[in-house]
Amino acid sequence: MKTTTRVAVIGGGVVGCSVLYHLTKLGWSDVMLIERSDLTSGSTWHAAGGFHTLNGDTNMAALQGYTIKLYRELEEITGMSCGLHHVGGVTLADNKDRFDMLVAERAKHRYMGLETEIVGPEEIAKLAPIVNLDGIKGALYDPLDGHLDPSGTTHAYAKAARMGGATIETHCKVIETNQRPNGTWDVVTEKGTIHAEHIVNAGGLWAREVGAMAGVYLPLHPMEHQYLVTDDLPEIYERGEEHPHVMDPAGESYLRQEGRGLCIGFYEQPCRPWAVKCTPWEFGHELLPDDFDKIEESIAFAYKRFPVLERAGVKTVIHGPFTFAPDGNPLVGPVPGMRNYWSACGVMAGFSQGGGVGLMLAQWMIEGECERDVSAMDVARFGKWITPGYTLPKVIENYQRRFSVSYPNEELPAARPHRTTPMYDIFDSMGAVWGAQFGLEVVNYFAQGDEPRYETPSFRRSNAWEATAREVRAVREGVGINETHNFGKFRVTGPNARAWLDRIMAGRIPAPGRLSLTPMLSPKGRLLGDFTVSCLAEGDFRLTASYGAQAQHLRWFEMNAADGAQVENTSDSLTGFQIAGPKAREVLAACTLSDVTDIRFLDARKMVVGQVDCIVQRVSYTGDLGYEIFCNPMDQRQLWETLWAAGQPHGMKPFGMRAMMSLRLDRFFGSWMREFSPDYTPAETGMDRFIAWKKNVDFIGRAAAEAERATPPARTLMTFEVDADDADVVAYEPVFIGGEVKGYCTSGGYSHHAGKSIAYALVPRDAASPDLEVEIEILGSRRKARAISTPMFDPEGERLRG
Ligand SMILES: Cc1cc2nc3c(=O)[nH]c(=O)nc-3n(C[C@H](O)[C@H](O)[C@H](O)COP(=O)(O)OP(=O)(O)OC[C@H]3O[C@@H](n4cnc5c(N)ncnc54)[C@H](O)[C@@H]3O)c2cc1C
Repeated sequence: MKTTTRVAVIGGGVVGCSVLYHLTKLGWSDVMLIERSDLTSGSTWHAAGGFHTLNGDTNMAALQGYTIKLYRELEEITGMSCGLHHVGGVTLADNKDRFDMLVAERAKHRYMGLETEIVGPEEIAKLAPIVNLDGIKGALYDPLDGHLDPSGTTHAYAKAARMGGATIETHCKVIETNQRPNGTWDVVTEKGTIHAEHIVNAGGLWAREVGAMAGVYLPLHPMEHQYLVTDDLPEIYERGEEHPHVMDPAGESYLRQEGRGLCIGFYEQPCRPWAVKCTPWEFGHELLPDDFDKIEESIAFAYKRFPVLERAGVKTVIHGPFTFAPDGNPLVGPVPGMRNYWSACGVMAGFSQGGGVGLMLAQWMIEGECERDVSAMDVARFGKWITPGYTLPKVIENYQRRFSVSYPNEELPAARPHRTTPMYDIFDSMGAVWGAQFGLEVVNYFAQGDEPRYETPSFRRSNAWEATAREVRAVREGVGINETHNFGKFRVTGPNARAWLDRIMAGRIPAPGRLSLTPMLSPKGRLLGDFTVSCLAEGDFRLTASYGAQAQHLRWFEMNAADGAQVENTSDSLTGFQIAGPKAREVLAACTLSDVTDIRFLDARKMVVGQVDCIVQRVSYTGDLGYEIFCNPMDQRQLWETLWAAGQPHGMKPFGMRAMMSLRLDRFFGSWMREFSPDYTPAETGMDRFIAWKKNVDFIGRAAAEAERATPPARTLMTFEVDADDADVVAYEPVFIGGEVKGYCTSGGYSHHAGKSIAYALVPRDAASPDLEVEIEILGSRRKARAISTPMFDPEGERLRG
């Protein structure tokens, strides 16, 4: 057996084999896969082998498209068959919301180049004649849907990897992973020890146990899952062509032809987690006992939707476990806090996603970054707050919701509240309607009187409309208050702090007492963050950015660490409030003995507010006169008492995230993971105006940014006013120019201050003009939209800076 390797991939399921293949494809041949038993011995061998592109996250959908197209390539390279059946598939909708969701997905596919189609009942009858069309409104048809042979495909990946120089060691269980001081790994197996520079955990059903060998907790959990194969059915075998896949979200089932019969699987509500404490090592090539009780209701529903099933005998039952992360997406990438330890697990749809996971991980390892934003599957999207106690109910929720409609404004209830600040009960008593962000409870808005304490999930304007309008008005006309707990926050200290920040951030690092806005770039010039940097004193800097990206940001800081600059994640050890609106200065003045009249826009200083030591920053995402006031969480209630009491004479009102996201539109402020993300560059999004071109520092991404400056990118971000009706832009709606799809929206919403529906969109630079008129498809209807370039509130910045 080989005893040294550049990469040791642990696990020979479809995901491990795909990672191995992609490493060789991208140029690393000294790579090795170690499998406890035979290849496919985890979930892989008993999968139904279905694949499809549909995924609520656009990048995940694109990677699913990549995976499906890859199979032909694998067949050509290896001469092996993946057993491909490209039969197409229909996803049914039997109510308006489901249909809305499919229409919204189809709209995204337009600019992604996916040839999906919305079809009506008549076409469904032709495509999938065994469907009982009672109550069916329509369906999404995807010609790329199909199925394959799970084992053949996994072996094709393995052969292609071997052809690229990889080694595969089967019947070789990894029993320990020990890190050497230089960051490399001793992978201890039953057959001896392998010295590897990098480890990839592709342990599938055992990924938790493999992670624990290195002290890593990976938030995933196995669930039991069952599908049935019927006896031969004349309605199927007498057809001249193979029956397409049918996904029936209402019945929580997927169905396809298997031989001369059918195969149907269920995501049943009375689902069961498997191996709750740990996956037994002795679990082999085996299945779980049949369990018809838990799918009884699902089968009854399926009989109605597919009456042919009632006459069908059951030939085979496949009941096996596979793993899910709390949100159902894979866990991929460098594990935070570890060196040279990579995750490729939690892949619940290995045959739709395995290729994309392999490609992204290989790019990340070899090139240092992925070609697209992979936040939706980044293992760092969960922070240190995640525990098995949280993961389990979330995974159950995710399984149960596998086929549910996903609404843009939806808040999922399982495992909540998980983390709260000292303000939780105070805001709760004031009518807070809560959302969750990165495990933390965040107020979306405040209900009043007999307004429901629950926002109706919807693709259209929701019942939060009135409350949001009220809160926007309170800020613009008087003063509003909300928490600053959901910012990612870091403290950077030490003699080298400024030099380090100058290298990490592309923008200007401020002088003491000031703050600045700056993008953080990857070496290829993509946006990794949009930060506010404040300098309290030389050698003492504070950073704020996205709360949800804090683990990704910390991982990046640690990868680029330098002597003399200490970085501390203070996201949860610093909290506080934002006060914003024309009366904000008067409120602050009433709370402190310090003079506040000389606090200029973009000043940052330490101050005592009431009786609490605070950091006060004169900046506000509302685009209004405002202050962010940070304090220790132990002092937060005291600070609240002070600010709230001082605010009452000025009509202070609390506001939530819904109002905040409306207010930001007024001054065209972008938002992380909407306008700004690793999918985009500074010049595409206007973030280039914050790059400090004159600073004499080779900051990360400089060469790429300079190149982009010399040759501007093909697209640019613009703001549009949309003739919307009862639904506003959310994200990824296609933009038509001259009748053709030429761009897409990054986000949007309703500006309650201006009374306008607003969209931000990336459009071709050569089409961008101040009077550009476009059409934007919202829920299947093309809405006229006009470019706007003057902020709708405070265009001269008088209030902001005054
Ligand atoms: C009934 C059922 C139907 C399914 N249908 C579909 C479908 O239609 N389409 C689809 O895309 N997905 C389907 N899936 C899900 C699919 O099976 C998984 O997404 C996929 O198999 C995950 O692959 P993996 O490589 O991550 O994990 P696994 O297949 O579990 O592979 C992990 C491998 O790691 C090895 N390993 C673990 N620990 C060690 C160690 N210490 N040392 C060495 N080796 C180790 C294991 O032996 C195993 O071979 C289905 C799952 C089930 C249960």
